[in-house]
Amino acid sequence: MATNQKVRSEYYLACADKIIAAMKTRQMECIYFENRKDMLEYLKAVIPAKATAAWGGSMTLKDSGVIDLLRGGLCKIIDRDAAKTPEEAHKCMHQAFNADCYFLSANAITMDGKLVNIDGNGNRVAALIYGPKDVYVIAGMNKVVKDEDAAMDRIKNMAAPMNAMRLTTGAPCTKTGNCMHCKGSGTICCHTVVTRYSRHPGRIKVLLVGEELGY
Ligand code: SF4
Repeated sequence: MATNQKVRSEYYLACADKIIAAMKTRQMECIYFENRKDMLEYLKAVIPAKATAAWGGSMTLKDSGVIDLLRGGLCKIIDRDAAKTPEEAHKCMHQAFNADCYFLSANAITMDGKLVNIDGNGNRVAALIYGPKDVYVIAGMNKVVKDEDAAMDRIKNMAAPMNAMRLTTGAPCTKTGNCMHCKGSGTICCHTVVTRYSRHPGRIKVLLVGEELGY
């Protein structure tokens, strides 16, 4: 009998094959990696040292080691967390639109190849839509869902409450664990973006990792 890990790997691979094919029809490139180490090796090989990179807030980027890789000298970076003032951080967010590479995760990825994201500030989804030359979406297979309805359910009743807890925004879902449709200052759900097609072939590159990353 196959081990749990082997069955999980086979299942992830079968799902990834389907997503890769679906994304191709949407002019998005998708590559599957069995683990984060292989994904990081790929980034080391494809990101030029002279490139400038920026990224959106993401537990996946931290969990996967992408932020450490970028800060470790892979290329030039625009690091808003190193900003000394809110004005400097704001400037970094604007500079990110001119970056060669932008890194983010997705809140959910559908089996038919769409990216679903909900954002508070909107800088992350704005850079996904327009600006940086290349966009790298890093996502663990835990982000994969059946369709847009399942994506919204995942985001509203798991990802957003957990992110609101992480950011201590005081949104009501931090107490209930599920969406209470809040509109107060603590909400992190201001912009909902479904990416169903990339007008520029291959600009969006989705790196799927056969592990649980972020939430
Ligand atoms: S709308 Fe408000 S309550 Fe609902 S998930 Fe977003 S932050 Fe939480």
